[in-house]
Parts: sequence; C-alpha cells; structure tokens
Amino acid sequence: MTNIKLNGLTKRFGSVEAVGGIDLRIHDGEFLVLVGPSGCGKSTTLRTIAGLEDVSDGTIEIGDSVVNDVPPKNREIAMVFQNYALYPHMTAAENMSFGMRSVSDFSAEEIERRVADAAETLGIEELLERQPKELSGGERQRVAIGRALVREPQVFLLDEPLSNLDAKLRVQMRAELLKLHRKLETTTVYVTHDQTEAMTLGDRVAVLNDGQLQQVASPQELYDFPENRFVAEFIGEPAMNVLPVELRSTDDGLTAVHDGFVVDLPGTTDAAALGVTNRTVSFGVRPEDIGLASSLPTSAATFTAEVTVTEPLGEQLLLHCRIGGREIRVKVEPRSQIAIGESVSLGFDPERLHLFDPDTGETLYHSARPDTELDGWATGSHETTSFDGVAPEAEPTR
Ligand code: ATP
Repeated sequence: MTNIKLNGLTKRFGSVEAVGGIDLRIHDGEFLVLVGPSGCGKSTTLRTIAGLEDVSDGTIEIGDSVVNDVPPKNREIAMVFQNYALYPHMTAAENMSFGMRSVSDFSAEEIERRVADAAETLGIEELLERQPKELSGGERQRVAIGRALVREPQVFLLDEPLSNLDAKLRVQMRAELLKLHRKLETTTVYVTHDQTEAMTLGDRVAVLNDGQLQQVASPQELYDFPENRFVAEFIGEPAMNVLPVELRSTDDGLTAVHDGFVVDLPGTTDAAALGVTNRTVSFGVRPEDIGLASSLPTSAATFTAEVTVTEPLGEQLLLHCRIGGREIRVKVEPRSQIAIGESVSLGFDPERLHLFDPDTGETLYHSARPDTELDGWATGSHETTSFDGVAPEAEPTR
C-alpha cells in the first residue's frame, strides 16, 4: 500500500495546458475517482502518475519519493486502459504473464503462481487457455485486469476500463471492481467521464474541469454540498436546475424571487452575510428535490408550472415544466397521471436549496448545513425548518 501526492501538477502540450496546477492527496488503500467532461485532463493526469507523460511543472510523489524522473517500469504501478489491447495470438494466461516474462526478473514458478492467484481472484481459471477471440467483452476486460494484478503493484491506475462494455456488464464489473478493491486494498486511481460510475466506485471523487480541480469529496458530500455550480450540475442525473433569482429581504431572512415562484431561504439573515452585493444570483434545486403539491405537507409553499414533456423512467416520472419562461426538470412518482400541457402545482424541499454566484459560479449558500443529517421529505423533517411558505406579497401562482 502507498499514498500519492500531486503537488502543483501541470502538464502542457505546446500552448495547450491540459492540467493546470493540481494539488491532490490520494491516501493509502484509497479508491479515488477522477471525473470530468471530455478533454478536462483526466487521462493526462493519470498518464503523468504512470510516467507515460513528462510533467511540465510540479511534482508527483508515490510513497515518500518524488518520481518525476523515475521511469514507468520502476514506479510499481499497473495500468488498465479502456482499450484492453490483448495480444490476439496469445492465450489469456500468456497475455497476463507477458509483462513479467519480458523483464526476466521472475522465475517460471513465480509467474505461474501469480497468474493462478489473479485468475482465482477474478474467477477466470477456466478461461486461461483461451485466446481473446474466444472470450466475451467482459471476460477480455477481466484478463486485462488480471494482467495488471499479476504485477502485484503498489498502485492501480485505471483509465475508463469499462467504457467498451454494454450497460449491464458495466454494472456487474463495477461491483466486481469494488469487491476486488476491498480484498486487495491497493491504492487505486480510476478515470471516468461517467458521474454514476464515479459516485458508485469512489471512496472519494475528484471533479476536474478545464485542467483544474473543482472539488474532492465523498460522493454524498459532492451531491449534497457542491462547492460550485459546475460540480452541482455535473453530479446528479438529470442535472440540477439552475435559475436566476432576485434576493429580497424579509423580517425572517432572505427570499428568492423568480418570475414563476417565491421561496424562503431557511437560515439566512441578509444578502451581505452571504457575501452578495448584486442581488441577482443563481438558484439551484435538484429535480428530485421538487415535488407535486399533492404529495407535500399542506404547509408547503407551492407554485404552478406547465408540463411540456413527460419521460417515464420506470422508477420515476421525469417532467419538463415551463415556469416563468424557463424550463425545469422535476422527478415525481412514476404512476402520476400527468399529461403534456397540464398545469401542475409544485413545491421545493426547503432543506435542499442552493445559491451560486452568477459570475464565478462559487457556492454562496446551501439550505442544509454539512453537520446536519439530510432527511428531507422522506421523514417530514422539513416541517421543523424555518421554511414557512411563499411570501404573502408575492403569491402569484398558488
Ligand atoms: P477524454 O474523456 O475525452 O479522454 P480527458 O479528460 O481524459 O478527456 P485528456 O486526454 O487528458 O482529457 O486531454 C486534456 C487536453 O489535453 C485536451 O484538450 C487534449 O486535446 C489535450 N491533449 C491530450 N494529449 C495531447 C497530446 N499528446 N498533444 C496535444 N494535446 C493533447
């Protein structure tokens, strides 16, 4: 086991800065996921840790040593790629042992032992004598992972290893990777553009955008307390709704006023306390934190919206609703009888509201506090919050 430290890690390709000064600690035995949109610098970060790319600035430490000048083969890492690139003329066992055989540091017995151990761990003992063309996609990916396992590395680096697999197999392999990690506890850095994969696999998730680290946190913390609008919209499916609102002061604190709704912001005092000078800010609420008025307590503030699209997702019904000239997405009970063109009465979960700076995107406010448990509507705990409905002077659509 070992830890990794990236200190101001920067990588430039000519005039392109792919990675722009990342500071990141990856702990002993941790499963850390690097996630972000295409081109944000995930693979480049991973490849610099592997030693496949030189570093332009900053340092990489593996264990207690700076490895900037250490060649890849001496870094005690093993990498698995999206394109598993097995040699077609070799058996699974030969593919797995090829790297060990080519450096001649290992006896034939040692190689055999490691291949057998890896095959047992991955449940592919019966496949060892088959060639890649005789294996399914999932089996091939297991062999590719086996090729990394036999090296018994200090660190696993995985670059989108599941993207070539179909959706069902991806879910299955995700669970297998988690079991494998629990068993081996090898420090792992995993790259993906898929936020669901990131959330399900990572002990912690590091969100990258444009070569910059946006936030590193546990999956739940990223979801509940995003530090900026980019993270708020990237994590969660469908994305958080973000709308411009005007902040107004009332005797009880602040209220967010939009063309289509007015909502109290629990726990606020005044705009200055949020560091806001311009009173127009971005208001964020997730589709799953908006509900039909009929399913809310009678005390909840509501507003009306016109349904423009309905998407049955099976476990939920996704509504696209027009409100004050904007479109928002709302997740409601799956069998709600709602038709396109209908007006629905909706309300927000007062514990799950967010505000962002409209210029920098930095988070200004979460209606929940990080040290409180987020029970939300499920337990009715919102009835005890300071949220007390639509401001009387602006009650346009109740
Ligand atoms: P994807 O999910 O699409 O693989 P990524 O987040 O892994 O994207 P990188 O492959 O790290 O992104 O690329 C980051 C940026 O660096 C991109 O703008 C890319 O075009 C650029 N880049 C990557 N490799 C090179 C290279 N060898 N030469 C020039 N530019 C490169």
